[in-house]
Parts: sequence; C-alpha cells; structure tokens
Amino acid sequence: MDRVLTSRTDQIQLSTRTVSPFCGPAASAAATAAATFGSTGSGVAPAGPGVAAAPSAPSSAPAVLSFRAPSATMLPTLARPARRPDADIGGTHRRPGAAPDAYRGAMDPRGLDRLDRRISGCRACPRLVAWREEVARTRRAAFADWTYWGRPVPGFGPPDARLLIIGLAPAAHGGNRTGRMFTGDRSGDVLYQALYDVGLASQPTSVHAGDGLELHGVRVTAPVHCAPPANKPTPAERDACRPWLVQELRLLRPTVRAAVVLGAFGWQAALPAFAEAGWTVPRPRPAFGHGAHVELDAADGPALGLYGCFHVSQRNTFTGKLTPEMLRDVLRTAATAAGLRPAK
Ligand code: SF4
Repeated sequence: MDRVLTSRTDQIQLSTRTVSPFCGPAASAAATAAATFGSTGSGVAPAGPGVAAAPSAPSSAPAVLSFRAPSATMLPTLARPARRPDADIGGTHRRPGAAPDAYRGAMDPRGLDRLDRRISGCRACPRLVAWREEVARTRRAAFADWTYWGRPVPGFGPPDARLLIIGLAPAAHGGNRTGRMFTGDRSGDVLYQALYDVGLASQPTSVHAGDGLELHGVRVTAPVHCAPPANKPTPAERDACRPWLVQELRLLRPTVRAAVVLGAFGWQAALPAFAEAGWTVPRPRPAFGHGAHVELDAADGPALGLYGCFHVSQRNTFTGKLTPEMLRDVLRTAATAAGLRPAK
C-alpha cells in the first residue's frame, strides 16, 4: 500500500503519538497504567475491586472539569473556565478577515493527556460504574487471564488529529477490557481494518493497547466513555458524558477539520457537543444517514465537515448493511475533506 500519510511534508502535523491507556493481558495492565500515568491517584476516583489500577492526574493539572456528586440527574457540569475554553492549550482565535486555515492554534498535547486521565477516573453514572466493574470482575471465559480495564475509556489518537471518528460507547469485553477505543472486539476489527486500508492506521488489527497501533491524523472517541449494559446508554448517561466530548472537541479545534459519526446514537449525541464546542449546528438539526454530510460553520474558526456512517457493529457488518467498501468510502471522503491524503 502507498503509505502517503507517513511521508507528508505539508503543515499537517500527523503525530502518531497515542494517548490512550494501556492494558495488555493479565497483570501487565496495571503496571502499564502506572508507567503511563504515574502511580499515585490524585484526582482520580478509586476503582472497584478487580479493576485495573487508576491512572493519575498530575497535581498541577487544572481542574478543567468538575462533577457534582451523583444526583437524580447525574449531570456533570463544565467548570466555568477562568479563560476562554482553548486558552489552556495555547489556542489562538482567527483574526477577523483572516483565511479560515489561518486558524491553527498552538497545540499543547498535554491538554488532551490531562483530559484523558480525568475521563479515566470518572464515576458520574452509578449504573455504568456498577456495570463496567461487574464485567471486569466476572470477565468472559475467553479473557479469564486478563485484568480488565473496567474504567471509562478515553479517546485514542494523536492530539493534532484532523479527522475525528465518533462511535457510541466501549464494548463490555472490548474497550472495557483493553482500555482503548474499539480495541479487542469485532467492531474494532472492522474499523481499524478500514482505517489501515485507506492509510490512516499503521496496522489492520487492534488487539490490546500495547500492540503498537498508531493512527495517522485520526482520533477515535465516543460520546459515552463507559461500557453500557446491552450497548445502550440511557439519555441521562449520554447527557452526563457530553462535557467530556465537548472538552475533547475544544482541545482538538486547532486541527480537526472533519468528523465521521458512526450510527444514529452518536450523531444525536455529538450534535449538541459540536454546538457547545463552538461550531454552528443548523436548525432543524440534520438527520443521520449513511453518507449524510453537513458543514458546521464556526464564528471564530474554520468549518468542520460532519459525515454520517452506519455503525461498525456486528449487526450491521454481518448483515451487509455496512460493507467494508461503504466504510472506506466515507473514511476517504472525510479524510480528504480534513486535509489528509488517504490511500485510494
Ligand atoms: S459514561 Fe461518561 S459521565 Fe458517565 S461515568 Fe462514564 S465517563 Fe463518567
């Protein structure tokens, strides 16, 4: 395959650094977590028994997000920032009249690192906390030698990504086991194979967080970061998790130019997050569909191309509702719109 994306020379910084945790099989998970995030747990809620050790947030990390004690609504709130939302990553707003691509911002990947650590310690949704930890304790027989991650799964991919892929939520024995989005389940097999096919991933497989997979200019995230029972978060849980996605979008704004949303749930969850992060979402809200495309303008920066794609779930891929070629087509279109150069 022509690996054009790894030989780019333009201003696109396709960092291949990955920021998501960890977990390989068995006891290596906790050790890797400690190596990645440090061994102390300040700022991160304790895990339940049988759950991988917590990543730690550096004590100097600003309190970008805060959560009320779980209540009837369970809604976390964004702490009111002392500065504009992107100030903590050194972002700069576009000068009036400047060309859209003048909006670059000065990327500081530490902002996304901090966010990922804080997400990993979130316990705002009692039902999901109980479920993810129950799954981690009981495990599936095929993964009996694993130490499950059993925590919220942060996004995966470089902090200067130009293309964002938004799914639904981690799978109980996939992301909830491995600690990385779409890793260790059939949905991930389909997604990463397609990303590899179009030159946006370094390898076609995603088995565990230490498998060497790197994404080129792409970040993968979800509107709900905890595995839900039956893969169905409630509307309250979806809304509770939105501040994390809003903050992730704000941190990515200097570089992200397109997003692919997998499935109607993600589409409905993502639209208000894009609006809160600074893009203008049309009214009435655009409907989801495979191949749907809408441009989201922004008053203080470049537009973002939003693309709909059927979810890579087994139900869709086994029945042929979503074929590999359909998925590759959407990824190629969105990647090109984002300024990447996908393989043909
Ligand atoms: S779903 Fe989101 S808000 Fe709820 S506990 Fe998990 S990370 Fe926190």
